[in-house]
Amino acid sequence: ESFDDMGLKEDLLRGVYAHGFEKPSAIQQRAIMPVVEGHDTIAQAQSGTGKTGTFSIGILQRIDTAPEAVAKGPQALVLAPTRELAQQSQKVMAALGMHLGVTAHACVGGTAVRDDMAAFSRGVHVVVGTPGRVQDMITRGVFDVSNLKIFCLDEADQMLDRGFKDQIYEIFSCGLPKDMQVILFSATMPNVALELTDKFMREPKRILV
Ligand code: AMP
Repeated sequence: ESFDDMGLKEDLLRGVYAHGFEKPSAIQQRAIMPVVEGHDTIAQAQSGTGKTGTFSIGILQRIDTAPEAVAKGPQALVLAPTRELAQQSQKVMAALGMHLGVTAHACVGGTAVRDDMAAFSRGVHVVVGTPGRVQDMITRGVFDVSNLKIFCLDEADQMLDRGFKDQIYEIFSCGLPKDMQVILFSATMPNVALELTDKFMREPKRILV
């Protein structure tokens, strides 16, 4: 199986190959299509397996890049346990989405709030952030979640370990669209993670790499 067989947009494929990905890794082979098809998806995979490429390619394929679409608000949200991971994933998302004209914004603590505000007011397709700053932007009314179609929890076990459970639950109760797709990546599946999937995901596809 190759990236060519996934029915991806031409400009996304260009970004994938330009980034140096030649052949999909095991998780990419198994999880990109369920994400693209709109299924809630749980992928149990360690970092180093290509999980960032998996959710980035899946998300990018689902973004509406029509010029007028960006004004309706972000279409995808990725939450990560640390600022560094969020910033790293934002760079991968931006690189893979370069030829699509997708804007990905890193929304993390330790940066100027006014920079977040400026980014949201210019318009972004994808937000990659940490729970605290993301929730802050939603509460302030800066980040309008009403147009989200996909929500990705990256390293869910790590986020729960770091005490982000309440914040994640609060974000889920901030008026996210009812039909929004949820995808979750986690190296392990402790009970707290299963609880999260039971509560917020519908008939998820489960992929174990
Ligand atoms: P991740 O699991 O997302 O942290 O990715 C681990 C490493 O594998 C990163 O350095 C990626 O750039 C690289 N990588 C991911 N997917 C591919 C691929 N299909 N081909 C080559 N390298 C990849």
